[in-house]
Amino acid sequence: MPEVVSPPVQTAEPRQFIDEIFRRQQQRQYAVARSTTRERIAKLRCLHEAMLRHQEDTRAALWADFRKPAHEVDISETICVNSEIRHAIRHLSSWMAPRPVGVRLPLLGSSATIHHEPKGVCLILGPWNFPFNLNLIALVGAVSAGNCVILKPSEYAPHSSALLKKIVEECFPPEEVAVVEGDVAVAEQLLSLPFNHIFFTGSTAVGKIVMTAAAKHLASVTLELGGKSPVVVDETADLDRAASRIAWIKCLNGGQTCIAPDYVLVQASVHDAFVEKLKTWIRHFYGATPEARQQSPDLARMIHDRHFQAVKHLLDDAVSRGAHVAFGGHNDAIDRYIEPTVLTAAPEEAAIWEHEIFGPLLPVRPYQTLDDALAYINAGAKPLALYLFSRREKHIRQFVAETRGGGVAINECALQFFNPELPFGGHNASGIGKYHGESGFMEFSNSRSVARQHSPIPTTNVFLPPYGSKLMNLALRWLSRWL
Ligand code: NAD
Repeated sequence: MPEVVSPPVQTAEPRQFIDEIFRRQQQRQYAVARSTTRERIAKLRCLHEAMLRHQEDTRAALWADFRKPAHEVDISETICVNSEIRHAIRHLSSWMAPRPVGVRLPLLGSSATIHHEPKGVCLILGPWNFPFNLNLIALVGAVSAGNCVILKPSEYAPHSSALLKKIVEECFPPEEVAVVEGDVAVAEQLLSLPFNHIFFTGSTAVGKIVMTAAAKHLASVTLELGGKSPVVVDETADLDRAASRIAWIKCLNGGQTCIAPDYVLVQASVHDAFVEKLKTWIRHFYGATPEARQQSPDLARMIHDRHFQAVKHLLDDAVSRGAHVAFGGHNDAIDRYIEPTVLTAAPEEAAIWEHEIFGPLLPVRPYQTLDDALAYINAGAKPLALYLFSRREKHIRQFVAETRGGGVAINECALQFFNPELPFGGHNASGIGKYHGESGFMEFSNSRSVARQHSPIPTTNVFLPPYGSKLMNLALRWLSRWL
């Protein structure tokens, strides 16, 4: 395990405290970069054990923050983080190994290798909606790659943030990994420092602020952002499968999931049947009556009053413009509860078609042909996730080929997130960069080319000035034709 130096005491002004941790990490980064595979694995094992030790605390923290159901905590936080850690432990030695690559004929006598050096001192700014998953999986990538990290979780999940700090402190000295808690002012202070890499998960609007701040120091960025993730259900789909998966992932975490289905485009011939299936599955999952659903222990609450009001506004706005509440519609400000709600016939000008919903409201609209559905999706910003329910191979191929953005799942929702072999992230408005598994290691690494001349009579001799020898001209002619 790394040498442990006593932590700076947090009695100074936060600004001085942050500056002091940053300074210590800058000094420490070269020692951390030199850490062996075995040493990095030991750190990852410590994190894995801490997650297991604090599994019950994790459930309690997320229940206190927004009544997140314990089973959802296990599925979407603890198990995800531990699966990423185990994957990294299994593969770290091959990820870290320099990769030899081939050399072309004119460079004969030399060798070429790609090395992965850590970026240095990294900042991770995280959201509140999956505080353990989204902060710690990024941390696994950063630690695997040999970086020092300051991690700032969101201020809106304070119980989770405090536990994250505790878990990290049990595994890392602060000059290697430190959790700094705080609000936007603290995030701004952190963003003013010359980090080597900034990994941000959150809204597209704040992502732009982060990228602007990073530009001042030319720090590289990973932006894991949000947006409207569409689902297409065609007339060949298994409607029970489609409705059950869409309802489940839409309501998971109270709908506050970046890869939740935002809206559904359903082929007109099965529109009504699909809406009926949605109602059946929501009743089955969460209760037969509005009262039973509000009392269900399996539905999380909106994170804070402002967010409750934002989601309620999307519902009220759609209804006031003529949308039909096909299911649900109840809400309770005191409880910050929004009932799982299915909306049909929401008019084009309703705000629900414009903004990421981030709550358990599901607008459904019919389409005639797959071309129509794809044109609708492609007219908007690139989504973070795209889902298709279909049994027609041609439709599946067309959906993948003719859409742009983040990951795709066919006949399931969120499947693309759970496999550490798959890179996770969006494109443009939904994000920049990828992580999970090897992609996370690479995101926190700088790939360096190392070319080495071994030959006592290097081929480069031919190109030395003065230019124009016969041999040089011959070589240039040959190279321009055959290289
Ligand atoms: P947010 O953007 O409000 O906050 C994220 C982090 O940024 C927090 O730590 C916060 O303190 C900080 N922050 C907020 N305002 C800031 C400012 N002006 N300057 C600097 N830092 C600031 O996001 P959120 O509400 O926590 O999360 C919801 C959003 O995140 C949704 O849009 C969702 O789609 C997206 N999201 C994306 C992913 C993903 O993996 N792509 C995952 C979860 C959430």
